[in-house]
Amino acid sequence: MTDIQHVSRPFVPPYLLERIASGGSQRLRECARHTLLADRQFRAREGAAHLPQGSSARGQVVRYIYSAGQRQELPGRLVRREGDEAESGDAAIDEAYHGLGATYRYFWEKHQRHSIDDRGMALQATVHFGRDYENAFWDGTQMVFGDGDGELFNRFTIALDIIAHELTHGVIQHEADLVYAHQAGALNESLSDVFGSLVKQYRLGQRVEEADWLIGAGLFTERVAGRALRSMADPGSAYDDPLLGRDPQPGHMRDFVETEDDNGGVHINSGIPNRAFHRLAMALGGHAWDVAGPLWYATLLDERLGRESDFTAFAELTLDNAGQRYGQGSREWTATRDAWRDVGVAVR
Ligand SMILES: [Zn+2]
Repeated sequence: MTDIQHVSRPFVPPYLLERIASGGSQRLRECARHTLLADRQFRAREGAAHLPQGSSARGQVVRYIYSAGQRQELPGRLVRREGDEAESGDAAIDEAYHGLGATYRYFWEKHQRHSIDDRGMALQATVHFGRDYENAFWDGTQMVFGDGDGELFNRFTIALDIIAHELTHGVIQHEADLVYAHQAGALNESLSDVFGSLVKQYRLGQRVEEADWLIGAGLFTERVAGRALRSMADPGSAYDDPLLGRDPQPGHMRDFVETEDDNGGVHINSGIPNRAFHRLAMALGGHAWDVAGPLWYATLLDERLGRESDFTAFAELTLDNAGQRYGQGSREWTATRDAWRDVGVAVR
């Protein structure tokens, strides 16, 4: 259990890659096996010796984009840095640069957060990691993106919500630091999806009914029968493919999946709190970053949120924060309570 905190947090869960490793073509099997091996090898690095200087000016982002040149080494060669306004012409480099910027902007403009640590930490990303590497991860100090295999997975910078998801793992690490296992781990995953989606919606200026509420839309090639990796609105419906299988996410506590795989189902049961957030945002209407986003953010920063919190503990705190901000019995408070009840999480 103690080791779990020091493992990287890959975007694509192991159960999906294991299906490819056993059922795909020879090339795809090899890609998936290499990816699984790299995911196990790359553990969060303590100390962060290579971390460059961040920004002392609040509201100002500092970005460094590196290329690993298809090798498995971090951080790689510096290819674009803050202030390099000319596009490099390399899609992964430019998407990472703009994705980090959009994520910083959301957290700054909506939550007055100055980067991952709220102290101006430089945002670093490495692209072109590994050969045909089918994943993206946060390693404790930076983001890492593979190019995908080109058959099932496109490059991982293609979806802004994936970039924001990985960065949010860093924010969580600096705040509640939820243990990456079982319900606390599923909350960790869910918060990364929630803010991943919020960053995308904010960037696109979308109202709740205009947003797709998908995580990783565009990541699958057209050969895959699927829209994305996860659906916050309708967990379990994101993909249903002969090779990849069916999206295993539940959207209600009665379908909660008891498993020891995937750190106790962190990428599976996150569907339940994901759907609660979606229910709340839809009930309130307008922009999800106006009420629902700040409520979840306040809860993430709430000192009462323990590292091993379960769904109920988190839900109670969202309700408490809604009461403090809007008053008990207010429209916002009632909608928060109902959203959790809708997914079977018992609250007062
Ligand atoms: Zn994650």
